[in-house]
Amino acid sequence: MNINQNPIILNVDNLHASIQDTEILKGINLTVRSGEIHAIMGLNGSGKSTFAKVLAGHPDYHVTQGSIQYEQQDLLELSAEERAQAGVFLAFQYPIEIPGVANSQFLRLAYNTVQAKRGKEELDPLEFDDFVREKMKLLEMKPDFLDRSVNEGFSGGEKKRNEILQMALLEPKLGILDETDSGLDIDALKIVAKGVNHLHNTDNAIILITHYQRLLDHIVPDFVHVMEAGRIIKTGGKELALELETHGYDWIHNDQKRAAGAST
Ligand code: ADP
Ligand code: MG
Repeated sequence: MNINQNPIILNVDNLHASIQDTEILKGINLTVRSGEIHAIMGLNGSGKSTFAKVLAGHPDYHVTQGSIQYEQQDLLELSAEERAQAGVFLAFQYPIEIPGVANSQFLRLAYNTVQAKRGKEELDPLEFDDFVREKMKLLEMKPDFLDRSVNEGFSGGEKKRNEILQMALLEPKLGILDETDSGLDIDALKIVAKGVNHLHNTDNAIILITHYQRLLDHIVPDFVHVMEAGRIIKTGGKELALELETHGYDWIHNDQKRAAGAST
């Protein structure tokens, strides 16, 4: 673990959130500083995607307790759209398909909306075409992606790459990737990792949600957090992911029991 004194981008304090009166998040604490990569791991159903969606402002989830500070603002005061414009980006675990809307149109609209908000130049279709093709090269995406409807008929891996392309265009301050590695073969995984590493710098931060260690061979986290039943139950450095890979998630409980036993 490094001792990073960079500015805090995100501070989550005792976050509780519910969906349809069922509490899913039960007191999450997390501090993310600029320049850091945080991995969030945990079994299915532990609340990882819920946490990601609450950060992005998904309207189905209700925050019932706690706070989220983002760049000196109360994130919970902002709509999902305002969060995106403020630099929060979520790559979905299950990207949606938008039939009838060309990927190029969709990407340009998203890009120009964020540019306008940042007081930067918007691009016309031709200018955007050049710009996006450069980014696509990095992700080794075929140009015909641009003409196809958003995610329609894309394979799992193509959808994930398209999410990373959006992220590369929008240059978020806080990029959240929800199981971007699932459904990727090893070559696609390496390309996605290359894209993420290329994007990551000392001014932004990344939260990687992943079930498996393998993505973390290519995107090396500063911190690894383990979620269970809506809480972060353990935090460590990158070696924690390797320990989980070797010993399984149950190991944490046994480890904690041993620690409790030793102190009594
Ligand atoms: P993870 O991403 O870690 O697999 P999720 O955040 O998707 O976990 O889900 C956490 C828990 O919330 C699960 O127990 C799941 O069944 C529950 N959950 C998710 N969505 C809903 C919903 N719409 N209504 C009720 N429970 C839900
Ligand atoms: Mg999930």
